[in-house]
Amino acid sequence: MSYFLTEEQVSIRDVARRFTQREVRPRVMELYGPKGHTFIKEMGKKMADLGFFRIPVPESAGGLGAPRTTLLVVYEELSKESPALALHLMLNGVLPTMLLMGMPAAREKWFEKVLDGEATMAGAGTDPRGLANFSEWSDLAVRDGDHFILNGSRSYCTGGPYADLVIVFGLYKGTTWAFPLDVGTPGLIIREDEKMGLGTSFGALTMSDVRVPVAESLEMSAWVKDRKLVQANGHSTINVLDISSMSLGLAEGVFEKTFEYALQRTNAGKSILTLGAIQVKFAKMKAQIECARNMIYNAARLLEEGRQDKMLEHMVKPIATEMAVDVARSCMQLHGGMGYCVETGIERYLRDAMGLTIGECTSDMHWSTVATLMDMPETRLGSF
Ligand SMILES: Cc1cc2nc3c(=O)[nH]c(=O)nc-3n(C[C@H](O)[C@H](O)[C@H](O)COP(=O)(O)OP(=O)(O)OC[C@H]3O[C@@H](n4cnc5c(N)ncnc54)[C@H](O)[C@@H]3O)c2cc1C
Repeated sequence: MSYFLTEEQVSIRDVARRFTQREVRPRVMELYGPKGHTFIKEMGKKMADLGFFRIPVPESAGGLGAPRTTLLVVYEELSKESPALALHLMLNGVLPTMLLMGMPAAREKWFEKVLDGEATMAGAGTDPRGLANFSEWSDLAVRDGDHFILNGSRSYCTGGPYADLVIVFGLYKGTTWAFPLDVGTPGLIIREDEKMGLGTSFGALTMSDVRVPVAESLEMSAWVKDRKLVQANGHSTINVLDISSMSLGLAEGVFEKTFEYALQRTNAGKSILTLGAIQVKFAKMKAQIECARNMIYNAARLLEEGRQDKMLEHMVKPIATEMAVDVARSCMQLHGGMGYCVETGIERYLRDAMGLTIGECTSDMHWSTVATLMDMPETRLGSF
């Protein structure tokens, strides 16, 4: 189905598709093994060489300055094999644009290196009291002259164990700030937490009297002020579309593999695709995938036209990610016992899909935000 991609978007999509099929597919299981970090960094370098990290970067800073749809299309292609690589692109293509908003020394030291795939970034914003539970958060920072001193911890940091630069988000006097920390910064400890899917471990950060210059820190009062979410703001809901397009790609990837499998798998001498129950299953999955695709690219188009629909974006994330879980679960079952075996590489889709329902705020948190945007009584924003 055509989604009115430009010629440039079609050609970038084709590059991403070839890369995914030729480079990622044959080796993707390495991601889930003990050398997952090495694999993701090696693939990250290749993505950088293909120019993927520069897609969202403004032209004035040496990037492509492409519309959001271009990036979503690339996430979608990568996620057919590995949403973890799409997350890596998000962290090393989108997150570096924060360095353009301030953080001059970090920009000087890391910006080009990250875009060239020579160094990697991560973002750490989840307080142990709950990612969006700002009313219960303590201040992470206190001020000491021209420095902030950070004390606290952050959980579930994707890419944290192998990052060179981590942007830590935390409160100072109840308002959000972003603090760029080199991993060697005294007082910063990053340990690994194993996770269910998406390969590699989370980083769990502990900060004890970590000093960061005020001039390097970025106030983000449009996000949280007085320990309250200011609004379902534009900046963060953009990431919601990113995760949604990863879920779309994941669902398409496992669907395609399962369709091929069902075509050649026989029962009573015929393909199992001749069984009515299985035909309906595939038809429904196809419809679920197309519904999510329509919502995602429609939301992206509205965003690009300056008509951002925040409620739609908060609906897209739970719809697309839960759709991917449904599709991955059905596809695993359609493979029979083989689908449950790790080495066939099918069950990993379900484990990966589950993670996407939680990262960038859970489905329920987004539904709370939708309820708030619908002006229901006694609601509160659950996500951003
Ligand atoms: C794969 C993955 C990658 C991640 N990557 C990162 C990362 O790179 N950096 C980072 O900082 N974090 C990351 N996270 C953390 C993630 O963003 C949070 O785990 C998630 O947003 C939920 O926050 P929480 O764990 O604090 O849940 P809690 O706030 O503890 O929520 C507990 C339960 O309460 C529900 N709940 C809470 N508030 C509401 C509400 N208002 N309305 C309805 N239900 C609510 C939640 O849905 C959940 O079921 C990642 C998580 C995953 C799974």
